[in-house]
Amino acid sequence: MTTQPASRARQVSLPAALTVRELGDLLAVSPVEIIKRLMTHGVMAAVNATIDFETAAIVAVDLGFDPQSAVPAPAAATTAIAPDEDEPDDPASLQPRSPVVTILGHVDHGKTSLLDTIRKTRVAAGEAGGITQHVGAYQVERDGHTITFIDTPGHAAFTAMRARGAQVTDIAVLVVAADDGVMPQTIEAINHALAAGVPIIIAINKMDLPGANPDRVKQQLTEHNLVVEDYGGDVIAVPVSATKGTGIDSLLESILLVAEVAELKANPNRPGNAVVIEAELDPGRGPIATVLVKNGTLRQGDAVVAGEISGKVKAMFDHRGQRMKEAGPSTPVVIMGIEAVPDAGERIRVVADEKLARQMVDDRKRRREAAEQRDHAHVNLDTLFNEISAGKLKELIIVLKADVRGSVEAIKSSLEQLSTSEVKVKIIHGGTGNVSDSDVMLAEASNGIILAFNVKTEPSAAKRADATGVDIRTYSIIYQLLENIEKALAGMYEPVYNTVIDGHAEVRQLFKSSKLGQIAGCYVLDGTLKRNLNVRVIRNKQEIARSRCEGLKRFQDDVREVQTGYECGVVLSNFDKFQSGDIIEFFHEERAN
Ligand code: GDP
Repeated sequence: MTTQPASRARQVSLPAALTVRELGDLLAVSPVEIIKRLMTHGVMAAVNATIDFETAAIVAVDLGFDPQSAVPAPAAATTAIAPDEDEPDDPASLQPRSPVVTILGHVDHGKTSLLDTIRKTRVAAGEAGGITQHVGAYQVERDGHTITFIDTPGHAAFTAMRARGAQVTDIAVLVVAADDGVMPQTIEAINHALAAGVPIIIAINKMDLPGANPDRVKQQLTEHNLVVEDYGGDVIAVPVSATKGTGIDSLLESILLVAEVAELKANPNRPGNAVVIEAELDPGRGPIATVLVKNGTLRQGDAVVAGEISGKVKAMFDHRGQRMKEAGPSTPVVIMGIEAVPDAGERIRVVADEKLARQMVDDRKRRREAAEQRDHAHVNLDTLFNEISAGKLKELIIVLKADVRGSVEAIKSSLEQLSTSEVKVKIIHGGTGNVSDSDVMLAEASNGIILAFNVKTEPSAAKRADATGVDIRTYSIIYQLLENIEKALAGMYEPVYNTVIDGHAEVRQLFKSSKLGQIAGCYVLDGTLKRNLNVRVIRNKQEIARSRCEGLKRFQDDVREVQTGYECGVVLSNFDKFQSGDIIEFFHEERAN
């Protein structure tokens, strides 16, 4: 996972502590919603209870926000946290940096050979005693300039990193074997580099072979919109031989030329910001990562965060295994002292101290867990069959509550017989009495559903079920209960709704409003009218319109409901052609099964 949320969540700034009500206000949801969410995370808190930032942040994430701490960090921390890469540096602070090069191309065209030749001929041997293994990147010097090569050839690594939002490459060297020409992976590599907006240099390799035909390569490249200089384009092509070591100098020269045009810059005077190139667990030294500093300077002793891993740079080595105290932009370094092995492409940031690093990691973990919990939908009778067909569900777990012992036993044995070859019906709890909090918790924990036969659901249990997504189905006929489960298992289950009439109003007067159109001045004949209910408008015993109640008014005030015997103003959505004497019937749909 990258540190950036996949979709841009709305940011909200939260204090160190706040009440449930205050959090509701900040997130623009009712306190009840906050309480429900808290319960799903096992926190029981009343409206005026105070919760801490961490708890509030979890709820905020649940509701699609990206919580930020409004607490000013300690003075040291504010200055020491590396700003995000996206945060632009003051142009005056920028200094030239060396190019980072990745070698791409078709298999067997000589990527590895080219990297080896450049390394062997250009990299001075390191002193003994350092880290000598392959570190994933190296640097060469030419005419007083440095070039960094990423030592994992091929576009798989290149693209994997880009997929994580970490583009480390400044220039792509596309290796094409002179005797083989443009091949499928050459084209793929071109497309990857173009997609990344990275300039391409062509290395026409294997020039030593008798079958070498560089002109054919150049021609083929033209067909893929890479027009080399000889052909009037601006793409540099350098003939080389990786095995003979010819052309390497002019290849490096061309890289520096392209780098100069690209005007690569960074600000070394800020806390380090790096990308993991490679990482592994060394049996003797613990997790070791090769990172490339993208901006700022990474120093020995820095506290760092990489995704959900924190640590401290205990020791740093350059690509030759020599100790380093600091590394500036475009420098690859091997670091020791992080707590686990990070993924390639993960960003590493320097933070004020180890304590803050651990806090940030805890915070990230919690946010991810909260997000995962939110994504993990609870089993539901409506979607049961889809999950069974997708192979996600092998058991239907049921908590059964009924009015009497006899019913529990009868339903239990009938349900168990509904097991199919794909899915087993398992009653993990059968008891008498209303559906309680603990029944919901049990179903929640075991990803089950609750069947209630001739019993009610306690209000607190209903709330909890609502918040956690636990499906409670209430029945009064055994046959119906069994039929529904059977249908759900077979994917034939269709929810049935009953219409419940809430009340009737008679239109007695009409008012015009410039904003709302015609308002029906009504008298409530029976029941209770509520805003947002569905309505039917009846004229001369015939239904003439179906709509929804958008507004209820008592005198000038907006109200939620109006009882029998009162007068009120009714505003409907998409209908205002009322006539005196019309009846407005308020109703809602209720699930029948
Ligand atoms: P990669 O798959 O692109 O990394 O290619 P390699 O570097 O593994 O090279 C594939 C084969 O081509 C090896 O047998 C190399 O020895 C050979 N090869 C690479 N470069 C040259 C070259 O410049 N000339 C010749 N004759 N062979 C080469």
